[in-house]
This record gives sequence, structure tokens and C-alpha cells, in this order.
Amino acid sequence: MTPWHAVVLTLHPAAFPGPLGVSLAGKALAEGVWTLETVDIRAYARDKHATVDDSPFGGGPGMVMRPDVLAAAIDATQGPAGTEEALILLTPRGQPLTQARVRALAQTPRVRVVCGRYEGVDERVIDARGLEEVSVGDFVLSGGEPAAIALIDACVRLLPGVVGAPASLADESFEDDLLEYPHYTRPQVWEEREVPEVLLSGHHERVRAWRRAAAEGATAERRPDLWARHTATKRHAN
Ligand code: SAM
Repeated sequence: MTPWHAVVLTLHPAAFPGPLGVSLAGKALAEGVWTLETVDIRAYARDKHATVDDSPFGGGPGMVMRPDVLAAAIDATQGPAGTEEALILLTPRGQPLTQARVRALAQTPRVRVVCGRYEGVDERVIDARGLEEVSVGDFVLSGGEPAAIALIDACVRLLPGVVGAPASLADESFEDDLLEYPHYTRPQVWEEREVPEVLLSGHHERVRAWRRAAAEGATAERRPDLWARHTATKRHAN
């Protein structure tokens, strides 16, 4: 089977594979379940100083990544003709990344991710190259690299064979728009805190019902946005 392929365009190639080189993702990378190509955007600069940024038109603080340099890097990393691909720009202005989008990306054979730096990238290259703008949350990182690692890690763990017990994926947070239920392990009593009785009962149906109720309770309390979607979907299904 052709491995899932991630291409990262970055001004800091040394940031990769980083955490993607260890544990589940790292093992899958070593086994060829997925492949990672890191592209140094600076290699596409056109002047002898290898300039990749410039000051913003209209004034203001910081620098902006030049569209010509970034477009050259994007154009040079096109996939083979006919390969289905996602081309993503990481930016706090993008659509928030969801598990549903991660699931779709894990099924897209080639995912190219552009990491911004400075104040971000010139708007024209976003339009001209049709970049999908994606955010990993309502906070500002200093660069797109940690966001790219998060996105790729989330995809890789969904690739067939990466997670040992695939059933655990079906039970996770955001499946069915619910947060996951809480977990407990040994010791059975720790600092005078006990494990919920039902989890020791060996009664699978009661355990299942308790976990479902705990997942629903946590979602309603912590994430009214998810809870509203969950209940709307359920209403729709009934
Ligand atoms: N001036 C930008 C703004 O206010 O929207 C923030 C730029 S940030 C300092 C530099 C780069 O980090 C961005 O171009 C983007 O690639 C990345 N980045 C920062 N926060 C991010 C987030 N929440 N999601 C995805 N990428 C992010």
C-alpha cells in the first residue's frame, strides 16, 4: 500500500520530525506506514541574502512572508499528477481543526502543510494557490511548526495499523461529538480515593451505560458547543 505522505514547508526544517519521530508516529514512520518530506522555504528565496520576508504595506509591526518565495516553494512541491491532495496553510485565522477534518485528511494520500512565521503570509499567495486555512486553536503560536506537528500526529494515529487497538479510536473524544469518559487504573484505592464501584462490577452493560452517562455529563458541562451539536444530531436521527 502507498504510504500516507506529509510534506511540510517551513523556515525551520530542524523542527521535524521532532515529536513525530518518537512513539507511535515515529514507529509508523520507521516502518514506512507514512513518509515525511520537509522543505526549506528559504531555499526558494531569489536574492543573495535569501530573503523570505518583508515589511507590511500600510505599515505596522513585524514582517510578512513574501508571496513570490512561498509560491515558488509550493509550485516546486506539487505531487504527481492525479494524486489527491490537501494543501493547508496553518494560521490562527483559519477554520478550527476538528476530528472530522483530521479523519478526512488521514484518508487523503498527500497532505502538504505550509508553516507561517512572523506576522503570517502575504494574502495573495493564499488566494493564488488555493491554500486551505486551518487553525489549531484560538491562541497564537510563534510559528506554524508546532501546529503542523499536531495536525500530522492526529492524522498518523488514524492510519491503519498505527494504533494497536483500533477499537480505542472509536471510543475517543469527539466521536459522536462527545468528550471521552474518565479513566481509572491500579491502585484501586489511591490517596483514599476510590474507583467508581461500577467499573469493578464486571457487568459490561452497566459499565457501558456509566461511561456513556459520564461522557455526556462531561460534554454538557465542559463543552456546550459540542453538546448542542450532539443533541441536535441525535434529535435529527430520531
Ligand atoms: N499575526 C498573526 C495573527 O495575529 O493572526 C499571527 C502570526 S503567528 C505569530 C506566526 C505563524 O504561526 C502563523 O503564520 C501561523 O503559521 C502559525 N500559527 C500561530 N498560531 C496558530 C494557530 N492557532 N493555528 C495554526 N497556526 C498558527
